[in-house]
Amino acid sequence: MRTLIIGATLVDGTGAPPREDVTVVVEDHLVTDVVPRRAPYYDRGAPVIDARGGFVLPGVINHHVHGLTRGPLMIVGEPPLDDARVRANLDRLLTQGVTTALNVDGFATVEEAVASSRFHPLTVKVATLHTPTHLQWATEGPFSFGGVKGRHRWTVEKMLGRGAPAIGEAGPGVDAHWSDYTLIPETFRSRYGVRVTMEEARELRLAAEGGDRARVGDLLSGYGVDPGETEAFFGLHEATLEWRKLARKSLEEAIAAAKDFDDPLVLHHTPGTFEVVAGAAEELGGRVIAGHSNFQIHDPDDAARRAKELRNKGAWIDIMSGDAFSAREFHPTPDVTFRLLSDGLVDLISTDYAGGFWDPMLLVAEKAAEAGAISIQEGVRLMTSAPADAVPKLAPDRGRVAPGAVADLVVTHPGRLSDVRAVFVSGRRVELPHRDW
Ligand SMILES: [Zn+2]
Repeated sequence: MRTLIIGATLVDGTGAPPREDVTVVVEDHLVTDVVPRRAPYYDRGAPVIDARGGFVLPGVINHHVHGLTRGPLMIVGEPPLDDARVRANLDRLLTQGVTTALNVDGFATVEEAVASSRFHPLTVKVATLHTPTHLQWATEGPFSFGGVKGRHRWTVEKMLGRGAPAIGEAGPGVDAHWSDYTLIPETFRSRYGVRVTMEEARELRLAAEGGDRARVGDLLSGYGVDPGETEAFFGLHEATLEWRKLARKSLEEAIAAAKDFDDPLVLHHTPGTFEVVAGAAEELGGRVIAGHSNFQIHDPDDAARRAKELRNKGAWIDIMSGDAFSAREFHPTPDVTFRLLSDGLVDLISTDYAGGFWDPMLLVAEKAAEAGAISIQEGVRLMTSAPADAVPKLAPDRGRVAPGAVADLVVTHPGRLSDVRAVFVSGRRVELPHRDW
């Protein structure tokens, strides 16, 4: 079959300036020609998509996201999402122009990714963190979440051999953030039936780190828990430290695996894990992807300084699309994102998860271009050819619109980069789910 996309403004993924009024010719699963005219003379191709005023660009490649399989969720191995939510996550990405996604939950198997790609047009691949300590940490360590089953006991080697394109996401457990965000609040909920916020949990943790029993007792009674539970809280705190120690060991195994197998390593980068990421970059250079370098950091100068340091060691600097244009739970403002972009410190854009309500990557590129932080073509490059190059086995022959490339394509409505009108996967136009958010 020969399909023509006519009259589009081409943003080809390489960072080259947009070209107006081109025709993209798709034959079978490939782009076979890019013609510099509004419509080729007497072409017999059918169907024809009249894309005048809209953009045509490579399908977006998302190298860092969660919740796309029925495997364990997140690096901690939480029980999987149900089918409907997995499908909703996949739909959300597809309507945002994503055609390939790397699920970096860590324990999902290659076969669980295949299963997702069987019921959805999006190409889903999975990264691996099946190291011995990581499996032990998630199944027997304090706070094991119960999502990791016998069928997930693969090895990193087996995962890579069966097509996993990267190792990761390694490192979140090392970040004290997890204690505040999940471990302490979850324990309080199950043990006392009390809800504590992340900020309240952090106050308790800091008091325990200082050995301040009186302060812990005061905080507990302030949160509606008997101050007689002070010693029990110190026990909980000890358990979180034990948990982090195991997380650290499993992270070191992941770094060693990236070195042994020469595959990319996706790391959880926040101020809490910066030193670890810097150490890994020192050792592994361009194999390290410093994930979501705009997460949990609110000072643009500080974010730029850290990104520059990691970049100098050869790491790829990734930012997450976040939620600054919608929920604002993770990113109250786009300031850090725009600063990193305008300083030219960003190599890759992904979504991460943002609690399941991430902004479209194309929207971030569009808003950043409007704000003058970056050009449209540079924004598109960071989510197409750049991730294809950073993670070579993720989306081979994709990420650029050029003759010979696989025809994973996005066509937008006139004028707006993020207003996705049509998506092609391997040369076939796929049906876009109705957006109901
Ligand atoms: Zn992540």
